[in-house]
Formats: sequence, structure tokens, C-alpha cells
Amino acid sequence: MRRVVALALMLTAAVPAMAQAQGFDVSVTVDDLPVHGALPPGMTRLSIAKAHIADFKAHGVKQAYGFVNSAKASDAEGAAVLDAWRAAGHPLANHTATHLNLEKADTLEAWIADLEAGEPAVAERMKGQEWRYLRFPNLTAGTRPERHEGAAAYLAAHGYKVAHVTISFSDWSYSDAYARCLARNDQAAIRTMEDQYLRGVDDELTRMRAVSLKVYGRMIPQVLLTHIGGWSAHMLPQVLDRLDAAGARYVTLQQAQKDPAYAEAQILPGGGGIMDRTAKARKVDLSGIVAPSERVDPKTLCR
Ligand SMILES: [Zn+2]
Repeated sequence: MRRVVALALMLTAAVPAMAQAQGFDVSVTVDDLPVHGALPPGMTRLSIAKAHIADFKAHGVKQAYGFVNSAKASDAEGAAVLDAWRAAGHPLANHTATHLNLEKADTLEAWIADLEAGEPAVAERMKGQEWRYLRFPNLTAGTRPERHEGAAAYLAAHGYKVAHVTISFSDWSYSDAYARCLARNDQAAIRTMEDQYLRGVDDELTRMRAVSLKVYGRMIPQVLLTHIGGWSAHMLPQVLDRLDAAGARYVTLQQAQKDPAYAEAQILPGGGGIMDRTAKARKVDLSGIVAPSERVDPKTLCR
């Protein structure tokens, strides 16, 4: 009897370890092309994009959707960023013209107008390709029924799919601090940021596995959200090293979103990542799952 119990315990304990050993599928996506955050000294918008493209190539990331805010792409450098992305074989899709938050827009119609204004810069570079993906600005799919259902109905009627997110390392929250700290050459502050960011990456990867197993009972294919900023370009080689070490297999957005977890998330109101939103909708308690480590708010650095 005791032996049976011990075996059962071993099998239960073996599930997360096996999931770890098997690795996981992940689609890499990049938001806010061509301009995200303050520009650090020594970089250009094009050099940031080229750094992303080179790092993706070095790590076998064959497809990274770039989500465009077309209002920032009307000048020569903005256009050059989008063109470089396409020349490297990566697709583009819509993130609205001005990064208008669905809940904060004056009206649903104003938000739709901004979405449509974002289309030409993407469509003209994606002829014959699948560009009708929307990444909601601030990941806000709307909470008020008028906004959530109105946007969902518009997107469905116009052949849009939502580009969901399951994991992010909050790179955006470091972007402006990195530009400030580099401008002052505050190397100590930059080291603090690097150390805690990489700890955060490890924490998020651990949390990702725990949440996926708790909510779905398996590792679902992941969609990673990053941003096209100077900080992200600076850290991307190390972030991709960590993803590789964690067992990441890079897949397309289409492959990742084929999983039924994404169809289920399509209809959920609210914001943020879909694993957490699905947990909330299914009333799965995630409170026992590892919290991120203590950290310094990058907003306070190099002031
Ligand atoms: Zn964005």
C-alpha cells in the first residue's frame, strides 16, 4: 500500500519536471514599431530595429510579428524601421495609429477610426500576407460591454484576429530609465537594472509554467510580448539565451494561436495576459504561485 502511495506521489511530482524537460513553444512579438520609449544616446531607431533582427536570426526566431503605430512611421527613419523589419522576413500588423487605449478613447468610433488609420502603413508592406492581427494598446480589450463587445464585433466583421499575450518581462518599464542612466553614464544604476531585469525574466518563466499547468493542466504555446526600445535591444541577447535555456521552441503566431486556449480567450473582456484572464474567468486561484522578486522601480533611477 505504502509503495502505491509513494508511486502516486512520484507521478504527481514528475509532471512539472517533465513539462520543463520537454520545453515549450513560444511566438515572439514586438510592439510599438517604429518608436518605443526615449532614445538612448548612441542608438537610432533603425539601429534598435537592426539589433532585434540580428538577435532573432542568431537565436532561430524566424517570425517576430511587429505591431505598428503608424503615426510614428511617417518620417524617413520610421519608414526605414518598418522596411528593415519586412526585408528580414518578419511580418507587420496593427497596433492602432496612435496607440489609442480602447477604454480611454472618447468613443468606440474614435478608437475604430484610429485602428483604421493604422492600416495603410502595414497593408502596403504586407501585400498578400496576413496583416489583420490587432495587438490592443496596453493589452486593453475593453471592460465596459459597449467597448468590449463593440470592438469584438468590429474586429470579427473586418477579418481581424486578436494577437494575444501570455508572457512579458515588463521591458517597457525600463525604457526611459535606461536612456536617462546612459545619458548620465550611471553604470551602477544600469547594473542594478540589468540584474533585476534578468531575475525578473527567470521569475516570469517560472511563473509561466506554474500558471499554465494550474489553469490548463499542460504547457500551452506561449506568446511573448516585447517592445522595440533601446533597453529591449540592449537586453535581448541575454533574454533569448535564457529562453533558449528554458527550452523555448520558436514558433509562428499562427501556430501558437491555433491552440484552443486562444479561442477561449477571444471572448474574455479586460486586459493583460490571457492565462491570467482565463484563470479569473474560470475562478482558478493563482495566489499561491510565485510572486516576482523585490525590485527597484526603474522610474526612480537616474533622476
Ligand atoms: Zn504598445
